[in-house]
Amino acid sequence: MIRQTGSAMKPVAVLAPAIDKKIVTNSTIIADEPTTFTDYNGELYSPTDYDDYRGSITLRQAVESSQNIPFVKIMEDLTPQVSIKYLKKMGITTLNDNDVNLALSLGGLDKGISPLELAGAYSTIANDGVYTEPTFYSNITTKSNKTFLESKQKSRRVFSKNVACVLKQLLKEPVEGSNGTARYCAISGMDVAAKTGTTNENYDRWLCGFTPYYTMVSWYGFDMNESIDFNRRNPAGLMWSSVMKQIHSNLSNAKFEITSGVVTATICKDSGEVATSNCTNTYTEYFLKRTVPKTCSKHPGSAITNNTNKPSTNKNTNKKNSENSSTTTQDDRTTTNNTQTQNDSENPKNNTTKPSSSASENKTDSSTNASRPNTQNQNTESNITNSTTTNTSKPQNTITSNNNDSTSSNTSLNSTTTEEPSSEE
Ligand SMILES: [Zn+2]
Repeated sequence: MIRQTGSAMKPVAVLAPAIDKKIVTNSTIIADEPTTFTDYNGELYSPTDYDDYRGSITLRQAVESSQNIPFVKIMEDLTPQVSIKYLKKMGITTLNDNDVNLALSLGGLDKGISPLELAGAYSTIANDGVYTEPTFYSNITTKSNKTFLESKQKSRRVFSKNVACVLKQLLKEPVEGSNGTARYCAISGMDVAAKTGTTNENYDRWLCGFTPYYTMVSWYGFDMNESIDFNRRNPAGLMWSSVMKQIHSNLSNAKFEITSGVVTATICKDSGEVATSNCTNTYTEYFLKRTVPKTCSKHPGSAITNNTNKPSTNKNTNKKNSENSSTTTQDDRTTTNNTQTQNDSENPKNNTTKPSSSASENKTDSSTNASRPNTQNQNTESNITNSTTTNTSKPQNTITSNNNDSTSSNTSLNSTTTEEPSSEE
């Protein structure tokens, strides 16, 4: 099953390659305004945002509320050809020559991507830049414990663990940001990275995300394209949240590791540059070393050095905000595994509310104008949900959940668990 992905595509098609190629940083300012692009086939392309255009915003803000224009602009610089190279390395096999266009940035695809392959791509970020081919088993043994079948998963490095680290911190924004599209996916005590996806006419709904333990991708829609009728929240997101909250319930609190090649800086939101004493609208951002911006050109003054927001387990606690750091940036040295127990500052209303019973918000994702009619139509009328969970620990374990239910909107998932950490459940 392959489907249009909508905005769920942005992290893997745009963010990972563009951060790796140093085309953008998390604080790059991009104008989110009506824009007409000339596409690769020579035609004019005028995508729109789902909600309001937000003007000059940081990349982090563009990720938070899933604005469209900034991602198309980045794709222009990156080029779809380079994006597709990365996607192929991340295990995506269903792209073709017709996907060499700017709509790739918004998940408007010729054919689409399967939830399993998208889970493999997202787990590349979760696994610190290493793609591991998804599998449905790890090994099969005889009664006498003799292994006669063992899964041989291909794996390869796609980008450095420092790039993955910066990206993870960026992808927390849809969950933790006040305008986030996936705030209800927060899990108490855990770092959660998540991205929503919606396609034209509400044909498809996605939630792709991960924690330090698991990557899960869920899709919700009909075999034959039909608008999804739902109340309030993204049903793929509700599935994601229900499953992930449950499988994390007995796991220790954990944060994403801050790797040695990543530094923080206090940033002026107006300029996207390192804040000075004269900047008033500031926040802390994560950067690859050597990509920390210069000091704010809008509010000249002395630079603020950031010495308070670095996680305590980071090895390089004395090298914060090092604009002039000469340390190599793209190393993949082994760093301490960072499992902290401090509490996450997360949206409190997500801690106790059952997803289906909370009516307080209705965050929807920017729908793309880019998706094309899905040519994979099947002749059934069942409303099918499909989700794939992969364990981000290595070797990677896979849990798949499927639900075919044409009458009920309640998704009771029949999970087949091939392997789970035995001590944790
Ligand atoms: Zn400033």
